[in-house]
Amino acid sequence: MRPGVNPTFIMEIIDGNQIAAAIAAELKAEVAALAGRKPCIALVRVGDDPASVSYVKKKEKTAEEIGVTSRIILPPVSITQDALFKLLDELNADSAVDGILVQSPLPKHIDEVAVFRRVAPEKDVDGFNTLNLGKVAQEDETGFVACTPAGIMELLIRSGVDLKGKHVVVLGRSLIVGKPVALLALQKKAGANATVTVCHSATANLPAITRQADVLIAAIGRPEFVTAEMVKPGAIVIDVGINRVPDASKKSGYRLTGDVNFAAVSPLCAKITPVPGGVGPMTVAMLMKNTVKAFRLAHAR
Ligand code: NDP
Repeated sequence: MRPGVNPTFIMEIIDGNQIAAAIAAELKAEVAALAGRKPCIALVRVGDDPASVSYVKKKEKTAEEIGVTSRIILPPVSITQDALFKLLDELNADSAVDGILVQSPLPKHIDEVAVFRRVAPEKDVDGFNTLNLGKVAQEDETGFVACTPAGIMELLIRSGVDLKGKHVVVLGRSLIVGKPVALLALQKKAGANATVTVCHSATANLPAITRQADVLIAAIGRPEFVTAEMVKPGAIVIDVGINRVPDASKKSGYRLTGDVNFAAVSPLCAKITPVPGGVGPMTVAMLMKNTVKAFRLAHAR
């Protein structure tokens, strides 16, 4: 803890596993009540990147638990962009597929944003298509919100955090996390209505800005970057980072850590998410929620 700090609050660790499990249970009941064929998600994993292998496995397992059908497609790492586009065009046209997820990162020879754009907007359960990102800006609820940002908002709401009037500082401006979560926190709707500051690698005097945050969302991909000196006592800290750092004591040879130095920062916080077990499980839960939504929208057309 920082010297001189004497917090009067009780720190709470937000349990992402528990909240994600509650969402999964709700979805399972919703899917069980659907007549006819069940929602179907196509999970496309290019190559064998170890992190991607484990993410897709987790998505497949969660889909199965909920009753969502998953179709796993594993193109080789050498697939050309054109061949990947052709595959996506086929999935876009397949009426038995409601949602499509292309696991990132993609190999360097493939333009990731072009791939996101190729997924039909109505099947874009990852929420990275231009149209769906635009709908977030326009606060159009018919779109799909990217899963990690949507999961962060859901995590906050279900933990009793109302962002109205709060200063949210987002560390990171990626298309996948930073920008969409900033837009969501800014929305003029219940649970949002925050005042938002977005920081990035060119931000000057970063700690002075992060120290102003009532809610600090760290998504920069730098292990334990956020230190106690960067956090206001009583703040709520959402750690999005998933970093693998070498650890000889582990069988895998690495351990997972977030973008926040949990040991140093957590005693200062009102609430904080751990890594693992914070935002990560929410991302998968929101993917399933989007898939069920895509199914419902397709059947309403
Ligand atoms: P990106 O690498 O796409 O973006 C990182 C952002 O952080 C950039 O905007 C970059 O700035 C900024 N940044 C990097 N270094 C600094 C620095 N020293 N000071 C200030 N800003 C900095 O990462 P992602 O958004 O894709 O992912 C971020 C983290 O979240 C990663 O650890 C990733 O693994 C994790 N993640 C977790 C998910 C989950 O489900 N929990 C899902 C997705 C990601 P600039 O734009 O200037 O380069």
